[in-house]
Amino acid sequence: MDTPNAPLIRRFAEAYSWDGVDHLPYKEDGAAPFKAIARQTLFSEAELACELRYFEMAPGGYSTLERHGHVHAVMILRGRGRCLLGNAVHAVAQYDLVTIPPWTWHQFRAPADAAFGFLCMVNASRDRPQLPSAEELRILRADADVAAFLDGAAASASTEA
Ligand code: MN
Repeated sequence: MDTPNAPLIRRFAEAYSWDGVDHLPYKEDGAAPFKAIARQTLFSEAELACELRYFEMAPGGYSTLERHGHVHAVMILRGRGRCLLGNAVHAVAQYDLVTIPPWTWHQFRAPADAAFGFLCMVNASRDRPQLPSAEELRILRADADVAAFLDGAAASASTEA
């Protein structure tokens, strides 16, 4: 599509989109559980060892609960929401930075009434995500806050930013 190594500016457009950047499915249908989330790949250059993507969830949407050997570097760009990191739930808001270490369970969830979007930097070459086994899910859900988060319950006062 573009001339290799040509300078390029893609203008920020309406509703958290960028000129010439496609809105793609988050993952292949049926590959993993998720809801109401779309993906835009902002940078994916052969000369870079990383990619920068923008993920946005519609109200009530969520990313896949997963873990993997590669790292995510995330900046919240739109709105506010919550994320599970390991066995803790955190409220996050615009411009917060989130580092997700290797083999750390993670999931992002939008609030019920607003869109929630984040930038995610990731290795271009990376391992496939793992989904939790029934036993791993049982261990995660042993924490009441985590169970409520996974069930999509509204944020409690203790997890509200
Ligand atoms: Mn991930």
